[in-house]
Amino acid sequence: MVSVAANPTRQFSPHSRVAVLLPLPLAGLYDYLAGAHHLHPGDFVVVPLGRREVVGVVWGEGTDAVAAAKLRPVTRRLECPPLPEVSRKFVDWVAGYTLAPPGAVLRMSMSVPAALEPVRDLVACRVAATPPAFKLTEARRRVLAVAAALPPLVAADLAREAGVGPAVIKGLFEAGALEPVPQAPPPPFAHPDPDHPGPVLSVGQRAAADHLCEAVAGGFSVAVIDGVTGSGKTEVYFEAIAAALAAGRQSLILLPEIALSAQWLERFRRRFGTLPAQWHSELSDAKRRDTWRAVAAGTAKVVVGARSALFLPYKELGLVVVDEEHDAGFKQEEGVAYHARDMAVVRGQLGGCPVVLASATPSMETVTNIAAGRYTRLHLPDRHAGALLPEIGLIDLRRHPPPRGFWLSPLLVAAVEETLAAGEQAMLFLNRRGYAPLTLCRKCGHRLQCPHCTAWLVEHRYGHGGEAGGTGRLVCHHCGHHVRPPTACPECGAEDSFAACGPGVERIAEEAAHRFPAARIALMASDTVAGPQAAADLIGKIADHQIDLLIGTQIVAKGYHFPMLTLVGIVDADLGLDGGDLRAGERTHQLLSQVAGRAGRAERPGRVLLQTFQPSHPVMAALAEGDRDAFVATEAEARRAAGMPPFGRLAALIVSGPEAAALDDFTRKLARAAPRLEGFQVIGPAPAPLALLRGRHRRRFLIKARRDVALHAPLRKWLESAPPPHGIRVQVDIDPYGF
Ligand code: ADP
Ligand code: ZN
Repeated sequence: MVSVAANPTRQFSPHSRVAVLLPLPLAGLYDYLAGAHHLHPGDFVVVPLGRREVVGVVWGEGTDAVAAAKLRPVTRRLECPPLPEVSRKFVDWVAGYTLAPPGAVLRMSMSVPAALEPVRDLVACRVAATPPAFKLTEARRRVLAVAAALPPLVAADLAREAGVGPAVIKGLFEAGALEPVPQAPPPPFAHPDPDHPGPVLSVGQRAAADHLCEAVAGGFSVAVIDGVTGSGKTEVYFEAIAAALAAGRQSLILLPEIALSAQWLERFRRRFGTLPAQWHSELSDAKRRDTWRAVAAGTAKVVVGARSALFLPYKELGLVVVDEEHDAGFKQEEGVAYHARDMAVVRGQLGGCPVVLASATPSMETVTNIAAGRYTRLHLPDRHAGALLPEIGLIDLRRHPPPRGFWLSPLLVAAVEETLAAGEQAMLFLNRRGYAPLTLCRKCGHRLQCPHCTAWLVEHRYGHGGEAGGTGRLVCHHCGHHVRPPTACPECGAEDSFAACGPGVERIAEEAAHRFPAARIALMASDTVAGPQAAADLIGKIADHQIDLLIGTQIVAKGYHFPMLTLVGIVDADLGLDGGDLRAGERTHQLLSQVAGRAGRAERPGRVLLQTFQPSHPVMAALAEGDRDAFVATEAEARRAAGMPPFGRLAALIVSGPEAAALDDFTRKLARAAPRLEGFQVIGPAPAPLALLRGRHRRRFLIKARRDVALHAPLRKWLESAPPPHGIRVQVDIDPYGF
């Protein structure tokens, strides 16, 4: 269902009907009577739903579909800023485009339902000084103990800390055992200072920055900062943020990996004198609430966040920046499937503000939009201050194989030795977590597989998920299932017969420790670094040259600058090509370019060595030649010829269920109901790439349509014509990413 946000000046008198959108995964609009409230579109309201109460948002006028006598009144209106009109339009737009229920999209805009609650929000509780007699239960005792031990908490936080439901807190309030502490409003977010001195920009950087500053003064536009790593893209878009600040408007910067952005934050602080507001999944509820409100009130002037920050209720958004716009991390696949880069452009359009995309390897979508004149390209061809781009060499593993049981070829080992001997740093990159991707019985060939997924169990020996004694665990990277390594083969019963096959970063770290015994080595993967602070500490140590050799997965690829790092070794450059999906080549080229960009800075030129079995593959050739444009042109031609994105439209339907037979019955029915239209092709059903995931069987349809053929309407009609039976779920993914 697609709803339409109503005119914001509309006010609903007490007895009129209002349509309320509820933040529930399957919900559309529900009608209520305004009751004794004067309501406006965007107001947050508490409404009854069955026997529960739910916080929703007034979306517009109610319909006449239900007799007034059957409608229930709105319980109350919350004392918090309304959801702005642009945000509501955005929810509707995203729901319409992704074919997700608007309620599921609204949920992303609320993100903190409990935090909207005014009474709990403004009042923190403490243990009453002179409580009257009251009944003490176990739950109540826990609450009082927590309340006595901690500074005053708001009710929701207190309930969570004590592990009790909200009713317990309410009961204690009513009994007089807890009393309210009037709370000052949260401290305002410090205003970044646009006039704080920044670096002097080069002529090329200045021209790009001037273009962006002009864009900030205009309405919607999209500019792409296309510049090699180290060319100063960040410094350039900082000028656009300064311009938005000077104009009193808010800026949003989306980063693909916000939990690992310590260096970025530090640079922001140097440029603007203070940190921006941050938005990501690791925030505490209290911080989340304060940030949500400060964004709505317009006091948080700059927000840096993960993709979900797009859905915050900005009061006056004046700029959206998507850094590393090509990054796969911007695509959300679970729940509402959306691409944050594309939705950022939509948000800019709805809010009439400029959007800036930055990348050293823009996505095929963005390149195509530049070519079509929809986006403006700002080119920064050179590294700042004359620094040279690294030299990229290929190591043909067929001719220079590593010794048996090792993964680093003699050429790469020699290069690392040279680098370390020169007092410089080296990095080895392998985009695979854990010790070994496959564990197999040497006697019978049995492979240890996840019982819930079509996936091998990955051995982790040293990660913080592992256990003392180095015995480690076998982990499924898809569902998190983990077991201790079995001592005997479950298939043939042989003892101690398991062999680890293939390398993960942990194994490379082990090999490196053996080869370079004097080097100080650090391992960096998402499961070996326990959170943002640990990541920041490690990055600091590397920047300080307390580490000689860094070994990591793609998290080391993201925008860090290490002045002494002069060698990057890519252990398995072919790894990303294996799946063979539509974007495998593009993604591998982007990732390896980004990793390569870590090498060399300022006066120290860098060197990159790629170990590959396919030195003549277009991706490897393009990297070795430094010819991105040739790669992009070849890739574009192949996509155009196949009618694939960005030259054709694509959607995926993932149909899943607990039983394969029932699932196949339903997918056959769905296939029979498929639209038959000119320029609209339905492929499948076929087993989805993970045919079993978390215990659910999965089938996939791919829908290919010509650019000039509408995709959404027939797709929606098709899905409505074949509703899934109980237990079967149909997930729509418009513009699917990896498949
Ligand atoms: P990119 O985002 O394109 O990789 P950055 O903006 O991160 O590039 O810049 C790379 C490095 O060069 C950073 O350390 C940055 O501070 C420095 N730098 C870039 N431009 C300038 C400048 N005009 N003056 C001083 N330092 C600069
Ligand atoms: Zn699993």
